[in-house]
Amino acid sequence: MAGLSAARVLADYFEHVTVLERDILPEDACHRSGTPQSKHVHALLGGGQRALGDLFPAFEEDLVTAGAVPLRVGLDVRIEMPGYDPFPQRDLGWISYSMSRPLIELAVRQRVAQYANIAVHLRCRVQEFEAAPGGTAVTAVKFENGAGRSQSLRADLVVDASGRGNLTLALLEAIGRAQAQESVIEVDIGYATAIFAIPADMSVDWKGVRTLAPAPQRSRGGLMLPLEGNCWILTLGGRHADKPPGDGDGFLAYAQQLRTPTIYNAIKLAERVSEVARFGFPASVWRHFEQIEPFPRGLLPIGDAICRFNPVYGQGMSVAAQEAVLLHQLLRKEAEEADPLAGLAPVFFAGASAVIETPWAVAAIPDFSFPETKGQRPPDFERTREFGVALTRLAARDPDVHKIMAEVQALVRPRSVLRDPDLVERVRAMATAA
Ligand SMILES: Cc1cc2nc3c(=O)[nH]c(=O)nc-3n(C[C@H](O)[C@H](O)[C@H](O)COP(=O)(O)OP(=O)(O)OC[C@H]3O[C@@H](n4cnc5c(N)ncnc54)[C@H](O)[C@@H]3O)c2cc1C
Repeated sequence: MAGLSAARVLADYFEHVTVLERDILPEDACHRSGTPQSKHVHALLGGGQRALGDLFPAFEEDLVTAGAVPLRVGLDVRIEMPGYDPFPQRDLGWISYSMSRPLIELAVRQRVAQYANIAVHLRCRVQEFEAAPGGTAVTAVKFENGAGRSQSLRADLVVDASGRGNLTLALLEAIGRAQAQESVIEVDIGYATAIFAIPADMSVDWKGVRTLAPAPQRSRGGLMLPLEGNCWILTLGGRHADKPPGDGDGFLAYAQQLRTPTIYNAIKLAERVSEVARFGFPASVWRHFEQIEPFPRGLLPIGDAICRFNPVYGQGMSVAAQEAVLLHQLLRKEAEEADPLAGLAPVFFAGASAVIETPWAVAAIPDFSFPETKGQRPPDFERTREFGVALTRLAARDPDVHKIMAEVQALVRPRSVLRDPDLVERVRAMATAA
């Protein structure tokens, strides 16, 4: 997702853009080995939807044409959390789209295919980045082609969108540069996902359900969303010793022990049309490349290569798209400079940090509410957690506050909007009244 979005951005400023992808990319919306996460729920948040719409005008129409299910945000997904079963359902005024990860990716890939100066080379596994003597700049990419032969491709700018980011780390090590410091939140989460045909006689007032765990006592939660093809995708997740199993009966039994019966009642008689897929996610990791100075010229990691987020909050694709929009803005500006690539990395990393700040902070509070979570707790953890509890209570009563809270969670607005003095005063009053 990050690589495709970045390719589209580079196409406006470079003569040729080459995407090297190790997989064979399917022609329809099905899974592939390079993105094992694609079997699990992939919610596209409002912030990511807007960013993809900036990059690919009428992108939402592409999704609808491909079968994505429109959801009225705030209304169509039933949110169940302790104290609110459900949280008040109201139309917050924008539509999001629900579909499988392979379908979102296919829609982006089809748009990228329309750019005459982007070439996508499949079965090309990047082996390493090649640096100029002294390691001041990256000059080429070495990769193994489909025939198993090693090749080198020279490039003015190399974007590392490999997800893991190991290529960038290896380059930094090879040129003797310090490694990026990391912020780490060890969440130790297990996911299990299955797809169900929506029963023809299903009659409910929701299109999706999110059942949150009674933290910190238990971590077991579920998210069920509609997919193209009249199906539900259900991802169950738990932490540490409470991870979901990978067999059909165990999956159902785990769903039955969620905090509320809504999800289990919906699926207990529904036909399961997929295997149960599992995924283990040990830790959210944010690499602080902005601290490496000078960063090798001509290299930019993007997406998960900079920051891998706990998937529970559905942020990764949106942040990747927002970083691509940021890159677009910066290239427009830097293109005016005599040497446009000279100052690109520092401004990109500074902007990417600002993009990442909100999703990282939004996730850190619920993650650290489990005492087993390891990592650096935010210094204001307790105060922020209490603020969040009171804000949620206020949002349940006040549709305007509900909208602001949802916009921050959906990465449509930065969390700094929650520092508005009037809002802070109202939240404090709510906390005192409790
Ligand atoms: C279980 C799970 C659930 C998730 N749920 C959500 C969600 O609900 N919402 C959301 O927004 N995000 C979600 N994410 C995160 C999301 O998948 C990523 O953040 C998003 O795909 C952006 O990642 P990326 O493009 O950086 O990397 P990826 O999407 O992982 O893509 C990396 C690409 O690089 C290719 N590649 C890797 N190494 C090489 C190499 N050496 N040579 C050539 N090609 C290579 C891979 O084949 C792949 O195509 C989830 C993640 C997980 C693990």
